[in-house]
Amino acid sequence: MRKPVIAGNWKLFKTTTEAIALVTELAPLVGTVDNVEIVVAPVFTVLSSVQRAIAGTNISLAAQNVFWEEEGAFTGEVSPRMLLDVGCSHVIIGHSERRQYFGETDTTVNRKIRAALNGELVPIFCIGETLAEREAGKTFDVLERQVRGGLEGFTSDQLGPLIVAYEPVWAIGTGKTATDDQAQEAHAFVRGVLAKMFDQGTAERTRILYGGSVKPDNVKGLMSRPDIDGALVGGASLKADSFASIVRFGA
Ligand code: 13P
Repeated sequence: MRKPVIAGNWKLFKTTTEAIALVTELAPLVGTVDNVEIVVAPVFTVLSSVQRAIAGTNISLAAQNVFWEEEGAFTGEVSPRMLLDVGCSHVIIGHSERRQYFGETDTTVNRKIRAALNGELVPIFCIGETLAEREAGKTFDVLERQVRGGLEGFTSDQLGPLIVAYEPVWAIGTGKTATDDQAQEAHAFVRGVLAKMFDQGTAERTRILYGGSVKPDNVKGLMSRPDIDGALVGGASLKADSFASIVRFGA
């Protein structure tokens, strides 16, 4: 059985005061949920403060990015060890916004996943096609290329707790959620690629989250599908009540 994961990607939002207020309101709303892994991913600057605020709760901490070197002359970067140091257990890698605006590629994503796993962090590895790619009938080609590129050179043992997040780019922040059928089809395809690349056991144990305009009113339908194991939530994770509803519907 795959334990569902509901993760909130806060993107470039929330100062320290706002971030603490959000998790302080969220924690009691989700405190009794024990069958869902709950994760929040704030900006780097508030990780420490959020970690203190969620200590002793069932909420885990993720960063939104990581660099692959441990330390050195790499101005502006943050290493896996530094994320562990401030209490992160997870890290989002290869989000489409990073691929689109910050030049991340399957190759850099691969290095980041390796560094995260070596550094005892759970990668939340993001993939997804653009609208143009979907309309050109290339969705499966793109997903297969991203999964193979991101995970090339790993053995199934090394993958350990890896989480995949399927986020169709056209559904992010647009209010256009993939239908349950579209999402299920993509998730089943990705699981199939994992089975081909590794083995059936790896494919079956890997959680695959859906992301893209997830809201309290659509999460239940999505998560009722067999290959959808949770959600990576953007906008709706910025309010405690909507994120808590998503967590509870996912339970
Ligand atoms: P929205 O939920 O705002 O569409 O964002 C999805 C996302 O990019 C999560 O990583």
